[in-house]
Amino acid sequence: VMVVRVDKIMSELGFGSRSEIKKYAKAGKIRINDKVIKKADEKIDSERDKLYFEGRQVVVEEFETYVLYKPAGYVCATKDNVHKTVMELIDSDRKNIVPVGRLDLDTEGLLILTNDGALNHRLVSPASHVDKIYYAKFDGTLADDAIECTAKGLDIGEGEVSKPAKLEILSSDEVKLTIHEGKFHQVKRMIKALGGEVTYLKRIAFGGLNLDDLNLKKGESRKISKEEVEKKV
Ligand code: URA
Repeated sequence: VMVVRVDKIMSELGFGSRSEIKKYAKAGKIRINDKVIKKADEKIDSERDKLYFEGRQVVVEEFETYVLYKPAGYVCATKDNVHKTVMELIDSDRKNIVPVGRLDLDTEGLLILTNDGALNHRLVSPASHVDKIYYAKFDGTLADDAIECTAKGLDIGEGEVSKPAKLEILSSDEVKLTIHEGKFHQVKRMIKALGGEVTYLKRIAFGGLNLDDLNLKKGESRKISKEEVEKKV
């Protein structure tokens, strides 16, 4: 159950700013059940009440966001005919929760899932510069100037170039890579461009969230607040 103010929920749902919603109410455009409201600071109970804007029902749904320690062997999709999906690891009956970006079938690590479309967009858009940090093990030998090349941007094939990223060499077969975009197989393609082949990949951080700090076991998930997800690093 959620009790919320009409101006708050409607602005969150994209109907306009709070002051715009206020004007809509004044103009008689908003109704709770069969009562036209003149003030947008009235509250609705999401289970009991129906909210209408210009005669059309506004679907009021609580946003939910989860963090998951994704194991290998699960696909980041809501449905799959062959593999188990990450949705099976989330304890929610909401149907519109989706993974924020994708981790490959064989990739492990931190995955965020949400039904908050605006939050999802902010987290994946390269323009918002949210860092995603990966730990990778690889076969082969990386170029001597791998760090500099990664910092400049790499030709990762298919006519795509990675944006400047940070590479840290941990050992002769392990690196840490920080990127803020999420192209298909991005990390594997970047390591390949540097002369290696990824044999194990794990996302260890996403924005201000560190997998280690979340104390999740592999395959475990839990609900998290939007504020916690968006906290700055
Ligand atoms: N880059 C990859 O290559 N795979 C992932 O799963 C995530 C980033």
